[in-house]
Amino acid sequence: MRNRFPTETPTEKLPETDDGNTIRELIAMRHTVTAVCAPCNHHEILDLDGLMERYGHDMPLRRIALRLRCTKCGARDCGVIVTPQTRPF
Ligand SMILES: [Zn+2]
Repeated sequence: MRNRFPTETPTEKLPETDDGNTIRELIAMRHTVTAVCAPCNHHEILDLDGLMERYGHDMPLRRIALRLRCTKCGARDCGVIVTPQTRPF
């Protein structure tokens, strides 16, 4: 049984400038991050606090997205959608 969020990714070569927001920034901005599986369209809101504990608060969301695995069909072809928090003032 492999880890649901594998911590080792052999092909991790992304440009440093295009990693998007870090977990800390997303939490600070109160954004909601939803993972969407491309093959089966299963979507699930990510637990940012849990991800921060697992990866550290400086981990860019884009790198996390590469490591996501669908909990329904097991595919690793997942995208992420960032939704700004709507506050009822
Ligand atoms: Zn899926």
